[in-house]
Amino acid sequence: TKHLHAPDLFARLDHLACPLEPWTGPTFDVLNPSTGELLATLPDMSTDEARAAIDAAQSAQALWASKPAKDRSALLRRWHDLIVEHADDLASILTAEMGKPLAEAKGEVLHAASYVEWYAEEAKRVYGETFPAPANDRRMLVIKQPVGVVGTITPWNFPASMVARKISPALAAGCAIVLKPAEQTPLVAGAMFLLAEKAGFPEGVLNLVYAAEGAPIGRELCSNPKVRKISFTGSTEVGRLLMRQCSDQIKKVSLELGGNAPFIVFDDADVDAAVDGAIQAKFRNAGQTCVSANRIYVQAAVHDAFAKKFVAQVRELTVGDGFSAGVTIGPMIDSHAIEKIEAHVADALAKGAELRCGGKRIGTTGTFFKPTVLTGISHDMRVAEEETFGPIAPIIRFDSAEQVVAEANDTIYGLAAYFYAENLKRVWHVAEALEYGMVGINTGRMSSEAAPFGGIKQSGIGREGSRHGLEDYLEMKYLCMGNI
Ligand code: ADP
Repeated sequence: TKHLHAPDLFARLDHLACPLEPWTGPTFDVLNPSTGELLATLPDMSTDEARAAIDAAQSAQALWASKPAKDRSALLRRWHDLIVEHADDLASILTAEMGKPLAEAKGEVLHAASYVEWYAEEAKRVYGETFPAPANDRRMLVIKQPVGVVGTITPWNFPASMVARKISPALAAGCAIVLKPAEQTPLVAGAMFLLAEKAGFPEGVLNLVYAAEGAPIGRELCSNPKVRKISFTGSTEVGRLLMRQCSDQIKKVSLELGGNAPFIVFDDADVDAAVDGAIQAKFRNAGQTCVSANRIYVQAAVHDAFAKKFVAQVRELTVGDGFSAGVTIGPMIDSHAIEKIEAHVADALAKGAELRCGGKRIGTTGTFFKPTVLTGISHDMRVAEEETFGPIAPIIRFDSAEQVVAEANDTIYGLAAYFYAENLKRVWHVAEALEYGMVGINTGRMSSEAAPFGGIKQSGIGREGSRHGLEDYLEMKYLCMGNI
């Protein structure tokens, strides 16, 4: 499937300009969430186009898998270099369609590039295994082979790094891919594909399907037997649905789903460091990340000091258009997002929470929400139980360490958790007791291409990043050689 690009947006970025192919089918609009401005009109592809994309991937699969690892590595490296070279352009596309501050967008693009670089390197390190056979007349070993065609579906909150984090290990492993990016943020994905084309990946190895709605394309990817694996990042609800749809063919899945991250400040913590960490973990991407601190627990002895310093720092955050200088919090992605945030705040206040700052929208038309701190939070409030996905920090006072760990674990989710403490014994006990795939200890930020990102419980299956991320796209094959 050839991709089309947004003429107006890409005209501004002339070295990324791409020849348009005619499209006569239905279309959908991509809007700037800060201004409501129309950025692009893209083809709304149907299951027919998805099927064609899968066919193209299937035709490229065998050749791609048979390429020497060194060649796949070199192509990924070239793609990485092009992403870095075009980082400013990619960042402005990202800010235009998603809203995050330009500096954060640039950071995300470089973070995306770091995954491509990492898997360019890992592509050469797909090691097998030999092991001693129980009898002398045989030899036993394991080789690793690509799973085959991978269908990937990505969300809008990290539209560049999610694409890189899925596609680069798949390509490194020798899988051809079909991507359906989020309908709110398809442009940076399109631009990255354009750069992949320039890097010289063979025809059919990367395929892009734009669509206004995920469901029909998702159904095709899950039900088409040529697709051997689905890799999805998004809501737990859609993850459940995709896993169900994959069950008929026992199709492999990698799922990065929702979270409900606890952020715990113990009484032996460095409170200033904890405040800085909480700002990072809560307000990065305006709180729209699956690892955002969703519940901030603070032990009684340090509660008031923490809350006071935290509120002071939150008041310093600047909300606005991601292109404006000094802005640290962009808009929410759309009106549904801001309605959910408002509902969570209203529910908390109705049940007795105290509003320490923020609490409302800015302006009447856009989707800007004031960074908000609430204290006096209890577990009967929606803010403490559901993923808010916005700049709302609910603070819960706690007394005992055992109790807080039990409360932190009392959720269907298990993605990220954070805690601040200095006592070494406590650090180990709490780190081991938290039922999460990732635990940040005295840090509010832990995402890295070198580390395995992923969740347990209903937060997902599989890991992205690190050498483990490659395993998600490899099958092991046991070879037994007899008569020796
Ligand atoms: P969010 O709440 O972050 O938008 P979603 O899970 O709804 O999370 O969306 C993440 C991605 O999943 C997007 O690319 C979206 O188009 C896609 N999607 C949404 N619904 C479905 C579905 N029923 N089947 C497949 N993909 C879907």
